[in-house]
Amino acid sequence: MDENYFRQALKDHRFVYSAELVLGRDHAVEDFEHFINEAGKEESGVRTISVTDLPGGRPALPPEFVTGSIRDHGLTSIAHLSGKDGNRNFIEGRLHGLASLDVENILTMTGDAPSDGFEGRAKPVYDLDSVLILQMINTLRVGHGDGESTSTMTPFDFCPGAVVNPYKVRKADQMMQYYKLELKIASGAQYIITQLGYNLRKLYELKQYMHREGIDNVPVIPSVYVPTAKIARIMQKGNIPGCVVSDELINRLKKEKKPQRLERAALMVAAVKSLGFAGAHIGGFGLKYRDVMHIIETADIIGEAWKDRLDELIMAYPDEWYLFPEGPDGFSDPDGPYQVDSIDDKMPWVQNMCLAANRMFIDDNSVGAHFLQNRLGVDEKPPEGDNWRHGFWYSILRQARTYKKYHLGCVGCGDCIQDHMTYAGCSMGRCYKELRNGPCGGSRPDGTCEVDAEKPCVWTLAYQYTLAATQDPRKFATTLIPPRDWTLNRTNSLANRLADIDNHHRRKTLEIPFPELSAENTMLEGDNDACHRRTD
Ligand code: SF4
Repeated sequence: MDENYFRQALKDHRFVYSAELVLGRDHAVEDFEHFINEAGKEESGVRTISVTDLPGGRPALPPEFVTGSIRDHGLTSIAHLSGKDGNRNFIEGRLHGLASLDVENILTMTGDAPSDGFEGRAKPVYDLDSVLILQMINTLRVGHGDGESTSTMTPFDFCPGAVVNPYKVRKADQMMQYYKLELKIASGAQYIITQLGYNLRKLYELKQYMHREGIDNVPVIPSVYVPTAKIARIMQKGNIPGCVVSDELINRLKKEKKPQRLERAALMVAAVKSLGFAGAHIGGFGLKYRDVMHIIETADIIGEAWKDRLDELIMAYPDEWYLFPEGPDGFSDPDGPYQVDSIDDKMPWVQNMCLAANRMFIDDNSVGAHFLQNRLGVDEKPPEGDNWRHGFWYSILRQARTYKKYHLGCVGCGDCIQDHMTYAGCSMGRCYKELRNGPCGGSRPDGTCEVDAEKPCVWTLAYQYTLAATQDPRKFATTLIPPRDWTLNRTNSLANRLADIDNHHRRKTLEIPFPELSAENTMLEGDNDACHRRTD
Protein backbone atom coordinates (compact mmCIF):
# COMPACT_ATOMS: atom_id res chain seq x y z
CA MET A 1 0.00 0.00 0.00
CA ASP A 2 1.37 3.38 -1.02
CA GLU A 3 1.90 5.64 1.99
CA ASN A 4 0.87 8.55 -0.16
CA TYR A 5 -2.91 8.52 0.47
CA PHE A 6 -3.68 10.85 -2.43
CA ARG A 7 -1.76 8.84 -5.02
CA GLN A 8 -3.09 5.55 -3.71
CA ALA A 9 -6.67 6.83 -3.85
CA LEU A 10 -6.21 7.92 -7.47
CA LYS A 11 -4.69 4.56 -8.28
CA ASP A 12 -7.62 2.76 -6.65
CA HIS A 13 -10.13 4.99 -8.49
CA ARG A 14 -11.55 6.17 -5.18
CA PHE A 15 -13.20 9.60 -5.36
CA VAL A 16 -10.80 12.07 -3.69
CA TYR A 17 -11.89 15.05 -1.65
CA SER A 18 -9.19 17.66 -1.28
CA ALA A 19 -9.47 21.08 0.30
CA GLU A 20 -7.49 24.06 -0.89
CA LEU A 21 -6.22 26.17 1.98
CA VAL A 22 -4.81 29.61 1.26
CA LEU A 23 -1.78 30.73 3.22
CA GLY A 24 -1.41 34.44 3.83
CA ARG A 25 1.24 36.86 4.96
CA ASP A 26 0.90 36.10 8.65
CA HIS A 27 2.99 33.30 10.11
CA ALA A 28 0.27 32.64 12.71
CA VAL A 29 -1.93 30.18 10.82
CA GLU A 30 -4.70 29.65 13.33
CA ASP A 31 -7.54 29.10 10.85
CA PHE A 32 -5.35 26.71 8.91
CA GLU A 33 -4.42 24.75 12.05
CA HIS A 34 -8.04 24.63 13.12
CA PHE A 35 -9.07 23.22 9.73
CA ILE A 36 -6.50 20.45 9.64
CA ASN A 37 -7.11 19.65 13.30
CA GLU A 38 -10.78 19.02 12.50
CA ALA A 39 -9.98 17.09 9.32
CA GLY A 40 -7.44 14.96 11.15
CA LYS A 41 -10.10 13.74 13.58
CA GLU A 42 -12.19 12.11 10.85
CA GLU A 43 -11.46 8.82 9.18
CA SER A 44 -13.13 9.82 5.91
CA GLY A 45 -13.96 13.10 4.24
CA VAL A 46 -11.10 15.40 3.39
CA ARG A 47 -7.80 13.55 3.70
CA THR A 48 -5.82 15.70 1.28
CA ILE A 49 -4.95 19.32 1.88
CA SER A 50 -3.63 21.41 -0.97
CA VAL A 51 -1.65 24.48 0.02
CA THR A 52 -1.13 27.57 -2.11
CA ASP A 53 2.18 29.10 -3.17
CA LEU A 54 2.06 32.87 -2.56
CA PRO A 55 -1.41 33.17 -4.15
CA GLY A 56 -2.49 36.31 -5.96
CA GLY A 57 1.18 37.19 -6.45
CA ARG A 58 1.39 38.50 -2.89
CA PRO A 59 3.87 37.66 -0.12
CA ALA A 60 2.74 34.70 1.96
CA LEU A 61 4.00 31.64 3.77
CA PRO A 62 5.17 29.05 1.24
CA PRO A 63 3.51 25.64 1.54
CA GLU A 64 6.60 23.83 2.87
CA PHE A 65 6.13 25.56 6.23
CA VAL A 66 2.88 23.71 6.94
CA THR A 67 3.27 20.34 5.23
CA GLY A 68 4.81 18.84 8.40
CA SER A 69 1.79 19.91 10.39
CA ILE A 70 -0.53 18.38 7.79
CA ARG A 71 1.32 15.08 8.03
CA ASP A 72 1.27 15.20 11.84
CA HIS A 73 -2.53 15.23 11.62
CA GLY A 74 -2.52 12.08 9.51
CA LEU A 75 -3.33 13.96 6.29
CA THR A 76 -1.62 14.19 2.91
CA SER A 77 -0.51 17.45 1.39
CA ILE A 78 -0.35 18.80 -2.14
CA ALA A 79 2.19 21.62 -2.27
CA HIS A 80 1.67 24.17 -5.01
CA LEU A 81 4.83 25.25 -6.79
CA SER A 82 4.85 28.13 -9.23
CA GLY A 83 7.53 29.75 -11.35
CA LYS A 84 6.64 33.34 -10.61
CA ASP A 85 8.90 34.11 -7.65
CA GLY A 86 12.08 32.13 -8.20
CA ASN A 87 14.42 31.18 -11.01
CA ARG A 88 15.23 27.59 -12.01
CA ASN A 89 17.90 27.20 -9.33
CA PHE A 90 15.59 28.40 -6.59
CA ILE A 91 12.80 26.11 -7.83
CA GLU A 92 15.14 23.15 -7.84
CA GLY A 93 16.26 24.09 -4.33
CA ARG A 94 12.63 24.16 -3.21
CA LEU A 95 12.06 20.74 -4.73
CA HIS A 96 15.05 19.35 -2.83
CA GLY A 97 13.58 20.93 0.29
CA LEU A 98 10.15 19.41 -0.35
CA ALA A 99 11.80 16.02 -0.91
CA SER A 100 13.62 16.32 2.40
CA LEU A 101 10.23 17.01 4.01
CA ASP A 102 8.80 13.90 2.28
CA VAL A 103 6.30 15.96 0.32
CA GLU A 104 5.51 14.00 -2.83
CA ASN A 105 2.44 15.67 -4.33
CA ILE A 106 3.45 18.83 -6.14
CA LEU A 107 0.95 20.92 -8.08
CA THR A 108 2.92 22.79 -10.71
CA MET A 109 1.76 26.08 -12.11
CA THR A 110 3.06 29.16 -13.85
CA GLY A 111 1.59 31.39 -11.15
CA ASP A 112 -0.36 34.62 -10.83
CA ALA A 113 1.41 37.81 -11.81
CA PRO A 114 3.13 39.36 -8.78
CA SER A 115 1.13 42.20 -7.26
CA ASP A 116 1.70 44.15 -4.06
CA GLY A 117 4.89 43.56 -2.15
CA PHE A 118 7.39 45.31 0.07
CA GLU A 119 7.70 48.91 -1.21
CA GLY A 120 5.86 48.14 -4.45
CA ARG A 121 5.28 45.48 -7.04
CA ALA A 122 7.70 42.56 -7.02
CA LYS A 123 9.81 41.57 -10.00
CA PRO A 124 8.14 38.81 -12.02
CA VAL A 125 10.59 35.93 -12.52
CA TYR A 126 9.01 33.14 -14.65
CA ASP A 127 12.35 31.55 -15.53
CA LEU A 128 10.48 28.23 -15.85
CA ASP A 129 6.85 27.75 -16.83
CA SER A 130 4.70 24.92 -15.49
CA VAL A 131 5.75 22.55 -18.29
CA LEU A 132 9.43 23.11 -17.57
CA ILE A 133 8.89 22.68 -13.83
CA LEU A 134 7.34 19.29 -14.62
CA GLN A 135 10.36 18.46 -16.74
CA MET A 136 12.65 19.44 -13.87
CA ILE A 137 10.66 17.23 -11.49
CA ASN A 138 11.21 14.33 -13.88
CA THR A 139 14.96 14.77 -13.66
CA LEU A 140 14.78 14.78 -9.85
CA ARG A 141 12.55 11.70 -9.81
CA VAL A 142 15.18 9.63 -11.58
CA GLY A 143 18.02 11.33 -9.75
CA HIS A 144 19.84 12.91 -12.65
CA GLY A 145 20.58 16.48 -13.53
CA ASP A 146 19.88 17.92 -16.92
CA GLY A 147 23.44 18.25 -18.13
CA GLU A 148 26.82 16.56 -18.06
CA SER A 149 28.14 18.93 -15.45
CA THR A 150 25.27 18.33 -13.04
CA SER A 151 26.03 15.73 -10.43
CA THR A 152 23.77 12.78 -9.77
CA MET A 153 21.15 13.38 -7.09
CA THR A 154 19.26 11.09 -4.78
CA PRO A 155 16.03 10.17 -6.64
CA PHE A 156 12.77 11.19 -5.04
CA ASP A 157 9.32 9.82 -5.81
CA PHE A 158 7.44 13.00 -6.63
CA CYS A 159 3.83 12.77 -7.79
CA PRO A 160 3.50 15.92 -9.90
CA GLY A 161 0.23 17.40 -11.12
CA ALA A 162 -0.80 20.33 -13.27
CA VAL A 163 -3.64 22.76 -13.79
CA VAL A 164 -5.89 23.41 -16.78
CA ASN A 165 -8.51 26.04 -17.41
CA PRO A 166 -11.47 24.42 -19.23
CA TYR A 167 -13.67 27.51 -18.95
CA LYS A 168 -12.21 29.71 -21.69
CA VAL A 169 -14.86 31.62 -23.61
CA ARG A 170 -13.09 31.88 -26.97
CA LYS A 171 -11.89 29.13 -29.26
CA ALA A 172 -8.23 30.22 -29.46
CA ASP A 173 -7.84 30.52 -25.68
CA GLN A 174 -9.51 27.16 -25.06
CA MET A 175 -7.61 25.25 -27.71
CA MET A 176 -4.32 26.62 -26.40
CA GLN A 177 -5.31 25.43 -22.91
CA TYR A 178 -5.99 21.95 -24.26
CA TYR A 179 -2.72 21.87 -26.18
CA LYS A 180 -0.76 22.96 -23.13
CA LEU A 181 -2.54 20.31 -21.09
CA GLU A 182 -1.20 17.68 -23.48
CA LEU A 183 2.28 19.12 -23.12
CA LYS A 184 1.92 18.93 -19.34
CA ILE A 185 0.79 15.33 -19.43
CA ALA A 186 3.61 14.43 -21.78
CA SER A 187 5.95 16.17 -19.34
CA GLY A 188 4.85 13.92 -16.51
CA ALA A 189 1.71 15.42 -14.94
CA GLN A 190 -0.05 12.53 -13.19
CA TYR A 191 -3.22 14.33 -12.20
CA ILE A 192 -4.96 17.49 -13.30
CA ILE A 193 -6.75 20.02 -11.11
CA THR A 194 -8.95 22.47 -12.99
CA GLN A 195 -9.36 26.18 -12.66
CA LEU A 196 -12.61 27.08 -10.91
CA GLY A 197 -15.70 27.77 -12.98
CA TYR A 198 -19.45 27.54 -13.17
CA ASN A 199 -20.28 25.92 -16.48
CA LEU A 200 -20.58 22.15 -16.16
CA ARG A 201 -20.90 21.67 -19.92
CA LYS A 202 -17.50 23.31 -20.43
CA LEU A 203 -15.99 21.27 -17.61
CA TYR A 204 -17.32 18.03 -19.04
CA GLU A 205 -16.02 18.96 -22.49
CA LEU A 206 -12.53 18.72 -21.00
CA LYS A 207 -13.18 15.07 -20.20
CA GLN A 208 -14.70 14.53 -23.62
CA TYR A 209 -11.65 16.09 -25.26
CA MET A 210 -9.26 13.99 -23.18
CA HIS A 211 -11.19 10.88 -24.13
CA ARG A 212 -11.10 11.76 -27.83
CA GLU A 213 -7.35 12.45 -27.64
CA GLY A 214 -6.60 9.26 -25.68
CA ILE A 215 -5.36 10.95 -22.51
CA ASP A 216 -8.35 10.25 -20.30
CA ASN A 217 -6.36 7.86 -18.13
CA VAL A 218 -5.04 10.92 -16.33
CA PRO A 219 -7.38 11.74 -13.44
CA VAL A 220 -9.04 15.14 -13.46
CA ILE A 221 -10.11 16.78 -10.22
CA PRO A 222 -12.38 19.79 -10.75
CA SER A 223 -12.14 22.78 -8.46
CA VAL A 224 -15.38 23.45 -6.65
CA TYR A 225 -15.19 26.98 -5.34
CA VAL A 226 -17.86 28.61 -3.15
CA PRO A 227 -17.98 32.32 -4.04
CA THR A 228 -19.88 35.17 -2.49
CA ALA A 229 -21.42 37.82 -4.76
CA LYS A 230 -18.57 40.16 -3.84
CA ILE A 231 -15.86 37.65 -4.74
CA ALA A 232 -17.67 36.72 -7.94
CA ARG A 233 -17.65 40.39 -8.96
CA ILE A 234 -13.91 40.59 -8.24
CA MET A 235 -13.44 37.51 -10.41
CA GLN A 236 -15.55 38.97 -13.20
CA LYS A 237 -13.46 42.14 -13.23
CA GLY A 238 -10.39 40.01 -13.85
CA ASN A 239 -8.83 40.68 -10.45
CA ILE A 240 -8.62 36.94 -9.83
CA PRO A 241 -7.02 35.81 -13.10
CA GLY A 242 -8.61 33.30 -15.42
CA CYS A 243 -12.05 33.17 -13.80
CA VAL A 244 -15.12 33.27 -16.02
CA VAL A 245 -18.16 34.51 -14.14
CA SER A 246 -21.44 35.24 -15.87
CA ASP A 247 -23.93 37.94 -14.83
CA GLU A 248 -26.41 35.16 -14.19
CA LEU A 249 -24.22 33.70 -11.45
CA ILE A 250 -23.72 37.10 -9.83
CA ASN A 251 -27.46 37.81 -9.90
CA ARG A 252 -28.17 34.48 -8.24
CA LEU A 253 -25.45 34.99 -5.63
CA LYS A 254 -26.87 38.39 -4.72
CA LYS A 255 -30.07 36.72 -3.54
CA GLU A 256 -28.40 33.81 -1.80
CA LYS A 257 -27.20 33.19 1.71
CA LYS A 258 -24.49 30.76 2.73
CA PRO A 259 -26.71 27.63 2.80
CA GLN A 260 -27.69 28.15 -0.85
CA ARG A 261 -24.07 28.74 -1.84
CA LEU A 262 -23.00 25.54 -0.14
CA GLU A 263 -25.91 23.74 -1.80
CA ARG A 264 -24.68 24.80 -5.25
CA ALA A 265 -21.20 23.49 -4.40
CA ALA A 266 -22.77 20.20 -3.26
CA LEU A 267 -24.69 20.01 -6.53
CA MET A 268 -21.41 20.43 -8.41
CA VAL A 269 -19.71 17.75 -6.31
CA ALA A 270 -22.61 15.35 -6.96
CA ALA A 271 -22.36 16.06 -10.70
CA VAL A 272 -18.60 15.60 -11.05
CA LYS A 273 -18.78 12.41 -9.01
CA SER A 274 -21.49 11.05 -11.27
CA LEU A 275 -19.68 12.17 -14.46
CA GLY A 276 -16.58 10.14 -13.65
CA PHE A 277 -14.17 12.79 -12.47
CA ALA A 278 -11.52 11.62 -10.00
CA GLY A 279 -12.39 13.92 -7.14
CA ALA A 280 -13.45 17.36 -6.02
CA HIS A 281 -11.04 20.08 -5.00
CA ILE A 282 -13.08 22.23 -2.63
CA GLY A 283 -12.28 25.81 -1.67
CA GLY A 284 -13.81 29.15 -0.80
CA PHE A 285 -12.97 32.25 1.15
CA GLY A 286 -13.46 31.66 4.87
CA LEU A 287 -14.75 28.11 4.35
CA LYS A 288 -14.59 26.09 7.58
CA TYR A 289 -14.06 22.38 7.80
CA ARG A 290 -17.69 21.81 8.78
CA ASP A 291 -18.76 23.72 5.63
CA VAL A 292 -16.69 21.40 3.47
CA MET A 293 -18.16 18.36 5.19
CA HIS A 294 -21.62 19.81 4.74
CA ILE A 295 -20.95 20.09 0.99
CA ILE A 296 -19.75 16.48 0.82
CA GLU A 297 -22.66 15.10 2.82
CA THR A 298 -25.22 17.12 0.89
CA ALA A 299 -23.70 15.89 -2.40
CA ASP A 300 -24.28 12.31 -1.23
CA ILE A 301 -27.91 13.11 -0.49
CA ILE A 302 -28.37 14.78 -3.90
CA GLY A 303 -26.95 11.73 -5.68
CA GLU A 304 -28.14 11.58 -9.28
CA ALA A 305 -30.79 14.29 -8.74
CA TRP A 306 -28.28 16.90 -9.98
CA LYS A 307 -29.40 15.93 -13.49
CA ASP A 308 -32.73 17.67 -12.91
CA ARG A 309 -30.99 20.91 -11.91
CA LEU A 310 -28.65 21.52 -14.83
CA ASP A 311 -29.70 25.18 -15.08
CA GLU A 312 -27.96 25.74 -11.73
CA LEU A 313 -24.76 24.15 -13.02
CA ILE A 314 -24.44 25.54 -16.53
CA MET A 315 -24.14 29.28 -16.24
CA ALA A 316 -22.72 30.16 -19.61
CA TYR A 317 -20.96 33.37 -20.55
CA PRO A 318 -22.50 35.26 -23.52
CA ASP A 319 -21.32 33.78 -26.86
CA GLU A 320 -19.37 31.05 -25.12
CA TRP A 321 -17.59 28.76 -27.58
CA TYR A 322 -17.80 24.98 -27.28
CA LEU A 323 -15.51 22.40 -28.84
CA PHE A 324 -18.33 19.98 -29.67
CA PRO A 325 -21.85 20.65 -30.96
CA GLU A 326 -24.63 20.59 -28.42
CA GLY A 327 -26.03 17.18 -27.57
CA PRO A 328 -29.58 16.28 -26.55
CA ASP A 329 -28.83 16.16 -22.82
CA GLY A 330 -27.63 19.74 -22.26
CA PHE A 331 -23.99 18.67 -22.61
CA SER A 332 -21.83 18.58 -25.71
CA ASP A 333 -22.08 15.71 -28.16
CA PRO A 334 -18.70 13.95 -27.89
CA ASP A 335 -19.24 12.16 -31.20
CA GLY A 336 -19.66 15.43 -33.06
CA PRO A 337 -16.85 17.13 -34.99
CA TYR A 338 -14.54 19.63 -33.31
CA GLN A 339 -15.93 23.11 -33.92
CA VAL A 340 -12.62 24.44 -35.22
CA ASP A 341 -11.60 25.75 -38.61
CA SER A 342 -8.42 24.81 -40.36
CA ILE A 343 -7.89 28.38 -41.53
CA ASP A 344 -8.62 31.59 -39.70
CA ASP A 345 -8.06 35.14 -40.95
CA LYS A 346 -5.64 36.17 -43.63
CA MET A 347 -2.01 36.57 -42.65
CA PRO A 348 -0.93 40.12 -41.80
CA TRP A 349 1.87 41.37 -44.09
CA VAL A 350 4.43 41.38 -41.25
CA GLN A 351 3.82 37.69 -40.67
CA ASN A 352 4.01 37.04 -44.39
CA MET A 353 7.38 38.78 -44.59
CA CYS A 354 8.72 36.92 -41.57
CA LEU A 355 7.67 33.53 -42.92
CA ALA A 356 9.29 34.34 -46.26
CA ALA A 357 12.50 35.41 -44.49
CA ASN A 358 12.40 32.18 -42.50
CA ARG A 359 12.11 30.12 -45.66
CA MET A 360 14.95 31.95 -47.38
CA PHE A 361 17.48 32.70 -44.61
CA ILE A 362 16.72 30.85 -41.37
CA ASP A 363 15.43 27.42 -42.20
CA ASP A 364 18.19 24.81 -41.87
CA ASN A 365 18.03 23.83 -45.51
CA SER A 366 17.63 27.26 -47.03
CA VAL A 367 20.20 28.61 -49.46
CA GLY A 368 20.39 31.85 -47.47
CA ALA A 369 21.23 30.03 -44.23
CA HIS A 370 24.13 28.17 -45.88
CA PHE A 371 25.37 31.38 -47.48
CA LEU A 372 25.33 33.28 -44.19
CA GLN A 373 26.79 30.41 -42.18
CA ASN A 374 29.77 30.30 -44.51
CA ARG A 375 30.34 34.02 -44.21
CA LEU A 376 29.96 34.07 -40.44
CA GLY A 377 32.41 31.21 -40.07
CA VAL A 378 29.90 29.07 -38.18
CA ASP A 379 29.31 26.33 -40.72
CA GLU A 380 31.37 23.54 -39.19
CA LYS A 381 30.66 23.47 -35.49
CA PRO A 382 28.92 25.70 -32.95
CA PRO A 383 31.36 28.48 -32.10
CA GLU A 384 32.50 29.13 -28.56
CA GLY A 385 32.94 32.58 -27.12
CA ASP A 386 32.09 35.79 -28.92
CA ASN A 387 35.06 36.17 -31.26
CA TRP A 388 32.96 35.26 -34.33
CA ARG A 389 30.50 38.08 -33.66
CA HIS A 390 32.08 40.68 -35.90
CA GLY A 391 32.52 41.60 -39.54
CA PHE A 392 30.34 42.77 -42.38
CA TRP A 393 27.84 39.90 -42.41
CA TYR A 394 27.37 40.01 -38.67
CA SER A 395 26.55 43.72 -38.90
CA ILE A 396 24.07 42.94 -41.69
CA LEU A 397 22.28 40.54 -39.33
CA ARG A 398 22.04 43.31 -36.74
CA GLN A 399 19.53 45.02 -39.00
CA ALA A 400 17.24 42.03 -38.59
CA ARG A 401 17.17 42.73 -34.87
CA THR A 402 15.90 46.26 -35.54
CA TYR A 403 13.15 44.86 -37.77
CA LYS A 404 12.14 42.25 -35.17
CA LYS A 405 12.17 44.80 -32.39
CA TYR A 406 9.91 47.17 -34.28
CA HIS A 407 7.46 44.65 -35.73
CA LEU A 408 7.45 41.74 -33.28
CA GLY A 409 8.39 43.36 -29.98
CA CYS A 410 11.73 41.48 -29.82
CA VAL A 411 13.57 42.13 -26.55
CA GLY A 412 16.85 40.58 -27.68
CA CYS A 413 16.91 37.39 -25.63
CA GLY A 414 19.11 35.82 -28.31
CA ASP A 415 17.27 32.50 -27.96
CA CYS A 416 14.38 33.15 -30.31
CA ILE A 417 11.17 31.09 -30.65
CA GLN A 418 9.44 33.35 -33.17
CA ASP A 419 9.17 30.54 -35.72
CA HIS A 420 7.37 28.44 -33.08
CA MET A 421 5.04 31.38 -32.40
CA THR A 422 4.43 31.58 -36.19
CA TYR A 423 5.62 35.19 -35.94
CA ALA A 424 2.68 36.36 -33.84
CA GLY A 425 4.97 38.42 -31.61
CA CYS A 426 7.82 37.97 -29.16
CA SER A 427 6.69 36.05 -26.09
CA MET A 428 9.65 37.46 -24.17
CA GLY A 429 8.41 40.97 -24.87
CA ARG A 430 4.65 40.64 -25.34
CA CYS A 431 3.81 37.99 -22.75
CA TYR A 432 4.08 39.43 -19.26
CA LYS A 433 5.23 36.06 -17.93
CA GLU A 434 7.72 35.52 -20.77
CA LEU A 435 6.28 32.05 -21.37
CA ARG A 436 7.77 29.75 -23.99
CA ASN A 437 5.48 26.72 -23.87
CA GLY A 438 2.01 28.13 -24.32
CA PRO A 439 -0.25 30.44 -22.34
CA CYS A 440 -0.96 30.69 -18.65
CA GLY A 441 -4.57 30.14 -17.66
CA GLY A 442 -5.20 33.77 -16.88
CA SER A 443 -6.34 35.42 -20.12
CA ARG A 444 -9.62 37.31 -19.88
CA PRO A 445 -12.88 36.25 -21.53
CA ASP A 446 -12.18 38.59 -24.46
CA GLY A 447 -8.75 37.05 -25.03
CA THR A 448 -6.73 39.89 -23.54
CA CYS A 449 -3.85 39.37 -21.14
CA GLU A 450 -4.55 38.83 -17.45
CA VAL A 451 -2.09 41.62 -16.63
CA ASP A 452 -2.95 44.15 -19.32
CA ALA A 453 -6.55 44.27 -20.51
CA GLU A 454 -5.48 46.49 -23.42
CA LYS A 455 -3.32 43.83 -25.06
CA PRO A 456 -4.26 40.50 -26.61
CA CYS A 457 -2.68 37.42 -25.07
CA VAL A 458 0.20 36.77 -27.48
CA TRP A 459 -0.47 33.01 -27.30
CA THR A 460 -4.01 33.60 -28.51
CA LEU A 461 -2.48 35.43 -31.46
CA ALA A 462 -0.03 32.55 -31.97
CA TYR A 463 -2.97 30.16 -32.41
CA GLN A 464 -4.69 32.49 -34.88
CA TYR A 465 -1.50 33.23 -36.82
CA THR A 466 -0.70 29.53 -37.03
CA LEU A 467 -4.06 28.82 -38.61
CA ALA A 468 -3.69 31.81 -40.91
CA ALA A 469 -0.37 30.38 -42.09
CA THR A 470 -2.13 27.04 -42.71
CA GLN A 471 0.15 25.35 -40.16
CA ASP A 472 -1.06 22.76 -37.68
CA PRO A 473 -1.63 24.35 -34.24
CA ARG A 474 -1.11 20.94 -32.64
CA LYS A 475 2.57 21.82 -32.64
CA PHE A 476 1.73 23.63 -29.39
CA ALA A 477 0.65 20.29 -27.88
CA THR A 478 3.81 18.41 -28.76
CA THR A 479 6.78 20.75 -29.03
CA LEU A 480 8.78 21.29 -25.85
CA ILE A 481 10.78 24.50 -25.89
CA PRO A 482 13.71 24.34 -23.45
CA PRO A 483 14.29 27.08 -20.89
CA ARG A 484 15.83 30.27 -22.18
CA ASP A 485 19.63 30.21 -22.34
CA TRP A 486 20.71 33.32 -20.49
CA THR A 487 24.25 33.17 -21.88
CA LEU A 488 22.69 34.40 -25.14
CA ASN A 489 20.99 37.41 -23.59
CA ARG A 490 21.29 40.52 -25.78
CA THR A 491 23.12 38.72 -28.56
CA ASN A 492 21.88 38.40 -32.15
CA SER A 493 19.29 35.63 -32.27
CA LEU A 494 19.53 35.14 -36.04
CA ALA A 495 23.30 34.68 -35.82
CA ASN A 496 22.78 32.28 -32.91
CA ARG A 497 20.32 30.23 -34.96
CA LEU A 498 22.74 30.08 -37.90
CA ALA A 499 25.51 29.06 -35.48
CA ASP A 500 23.17 26.41 -34.02
CA ILE A 501 23.72 27.57 -30.45
CA ASP A 502 20.14 28.60 -29.63
CA ASN A 503 17.20 26.49 -28.44
CA HIS A 504 16.28 25.18 -31.90
CA HIS A 505 18.29 21.95 -31.79
CA ARG A 506 17.28 21.34 -28.16
CA ARG A 507 13.52 21.42 -28.83
CA LYS A 508 11.84 18.07 -28.37
CA THR A 509 8.73 16.53 -29.77
CA LEU A 510 6.92 14.95 -26.85
CA GLU A 511 4.63 11.99 -27.10
CA ILE A 512 2.18 10.41 -24.70
CA PRO A 513 3.33 8.14 -23.20
CA PHE A 514 7.06 8.55 -23.54
CA PRO A 515 8.10 5.71 -25.82
CA GLU A 516 11.78 5.82 -24.98
CA LEU A 517 11.39 5.24 -21.28
CA SER A 518 11.90 2.09 -19.37
CA ALA A 519 9.41 0.40 -17.08
CA GLU A 520 11.75 0.85 -14.09
CA ASN A 521 10.88 4.51 -14.04
CA THR A 522 7.16 4.03 -13.67
CA MET A 523 5.72 5.27 -10.43
CA LEU A 524 2.88 2.90 -9.89
CA GLU A 525 1.80 -0.49 -10.90
CA GLY A 526 -1.13 -0.96 -13.22
CA ASP A 527 -1.16 -0.77 -16.96
CA ASN A 528 -3.83 1.77 -17.47
CA ASP A 529 -3.28 3.85 -14.41
CA ALA A 530 -3.08 7.58 -14.47
CA CYS A 531 -0.05 7.53 -12.23
CA HIS A 532 1.68 5.17 -14.63
CA ARG A 533 3.46 7.98 -16.40
CA ARG A 534 7.09 7.46 -17.04
CA THR A 535 9.82 9.91 -16.41
CA ASP A 536 11.96 11.73 -18.88
S1 SF4 B 1 0.18 37.25 -22.60
FE1 SF4 B 1 -1.19 35.47 -22.24
S2 SF4 B 1 0.18 33.89 -21.41
FE2 SF4 B 1 1.28 35.85 -21.19
S3 SF4 B 1 0.75 36.59 -19.12
FE3 SF4 B 1 -0.73 37.50 -20.55
S4 SF4 B 1 -2.49 36.06 -20.49
FE4 SF4 B 1 -0.73 34.95 -19.64
